[in-house]
Amino acid sequence: MKKFLFGALVLGFMSACNNDNLTHQNETSPDQENTVPSALRRSCPSEEIRQAMLLKNPSLKQKIADIEFSTEKFAENLKIGKVLADGTVEIPVVFNVIYNTSAQNVSDARIAEQIAVLNADYGATNSDITKIPSAFKPAAAGDVKIRFKLVATNRKQSTKTGWRSDLEQMKKASTGGIDATDVTKNMNIWVVNSILDENNQPGTLGYAYYPEHAGQWYDGLVIGYQYIGKTGASAPFNLGRTVTHEVGHYLNLPHLWGSSDAGCQTDYSNDTPTSPGPNYGNPTYPLNRVCGGVSRSQMFMNYMDYVDDKSMVMFSANQRTRMQAVVAASGPRAGLR
Ligand SMILES: [Zn+2]
Repeated sequence: MKKFLFGALVLGFMSACNNDNLTHQNETSPDQENTVPSALRRSCPSEEIRQAMLLKNPSLKQKIADIEFSTEKFAENLKIGKVLADGTVEIPVVFNVIYNTSAQNVSDARIAEQIAVLNADYGATNSDITKIPSAFKPAAAGDVKIRFKLVATNRKQSTKTGWRSDLEQMKKASTGGIDATDVTKNMNIWVVNSILDENNQPGTLGYAYYPEHAGQWYDGLVIGYQYIGKTGASAPFNLGRTVTHEVGHYLNLPHLWGSSDAGCQTDYSNDTPTSPGPNYGNPTYPLNRVCGGVSRSQMFMNYMDYVDDKSMVMFSANQRTRMQAVVAASGPRAGLR
């Protein structure tokens, strides 16, 4: 597919996803608290990593403000017809697979499945899009006009059995990993056998950096091999949606409940109902939850929630605009165009 005019180069933040439980928010629905065993709950440390990076490097705050400013400006320009909304951008993707056992060395076929999932989800051609409740259909993104093309797969065997997200050793050959391929022009995805947190605990499915980290050597996604593609992937995260979710962070989408575990924060998309925190498993629609004393039907079927792969099927229109702003010619990831 041709690349049209959208793109940029700036910095990003991290995002991540794991299946152990997070600190829970106030006003959490009892069903969501109790019905899904913690081992089967998705959770994602991308925001925690973002906050940790902010503490280490306070100047990132200005970059975030700049990105939000250019995002708002893009949305305004879109409204007055200054930007061609139908220009589709195709992002070059590099897979860096670091494995110990041969089972962890995910096949080319599985990687192809993953790329196909991304293209379906970002093109709104996913077959399960029919699960969008009619009340949310007006807010659905439709085609995000972003596509993905595999340009290289690098493989390396390692004796390591776990990789810490805070050390990023998987991203440098000098520390046993694989160097990124030009992060300004490619979305790098590192596949590892186990992602560990700063306390060496496993459970993270994946994480990604937000656009304020664009251009950095560590920019991109890290995903556990169990969650790549579909064939042989681990249920209930076996439909490739962990990568769909992490790419959302890479393209500047926060979780639906905002950038804080406190919940009920803005996710900068007005068409996703305010949410007190993650939903897990496979909720039944409608699911109402309360923020600030107001009960709202939750868009738990959005890719930026924590539900199981088979229950996440859509982005919203505002989320589409935010992602397009990131890859626009004026955006922080213009280099991907
Ligand atoms: Zn996440």
